Amino acid sequence: MSVFCGPRETKPRQAARRPGLILATGNRQAPMTDADLLRMAIRLAERKSRDGSRGPFGAVIARGGRVVSAGWNRVVEGRDPSAHAEIVAIRRACRRLRTHSLAGCDIYCSCEPCPMCLAAIYWARIGAVHFACTAADAAAAGFDDVRIRRQLRMPRGRRSVRAMQALRREGRAVFAQWRANPRRAMY
Ligand SMILES: [Zn+2]
Repeated sequence: MSVFCGPRETKPRQAARRPGLILATGNRQAPMTDADLLRMAIRLAERKSRDGSRGPFGAVIARGGRVVSAGWNRVVEGRDPSAHAEIVAIRRACRRLRTHSLAGCDIYCSCEPCPMCLAAIYWARIGAVHFACTAADAAAAGFDDVRIRRQLRMPRGRRSVRAMQALRREGRAVFAQWRANPRRAMY
C-alpha cells in the first residue's frame, strides 16, 4: 500500500498539520539524521559521476529529517550551466511541494555550495546548509568557484565580466508599474 497519498497531500500547509506525513520517500521510516542525509548526498555525487559524464556533486533536501528531493550535477548532460546538484534538488523540491518557498527545509550537499547555489538557497528560504567538502577541496579537484567568490568581492568595474549600466529610467518604469499592480504576486 502506498503511503504517498497524491498531490493534495503534498501541500506544505496540510503537511504542517500532519507532521507524520512522509513527503517523498513514500514510507514511514524514522527521520534520518543530518549525517545520514549528508552521506546520501555524498553517495549521489559518487554514484552519478562514476562514469565521468557528470560532475561529482550531489544534494538532498529534507524537512524534519525526511527526504523531499535529491539532485546531482547535470550540467553537461542537460547542456545547462546552472544545473548544479543544489539547483536541481531545489527545482525538484519546489515541484514536489508545489511552492516556490522551501522554508522549513534544510539542504545537504556533498560540497560547499558555489555562489550561484548559495544565492538560490537564500531565494528558496532554505533554513540551513550542511556540506561535506569545502570550496577549497572543489578548487583542488578543478572546480574553481573560489575564482567566482573572488570576483563577487570586487567592485563591478574590476570584474572580468564587464557590467554596463544604462536606460535606468526606462527600467524603473517597469518597477513602478509592478508596484502599482494590486494583483502582483509577492515572493
Ligand atoms: Zn553551485
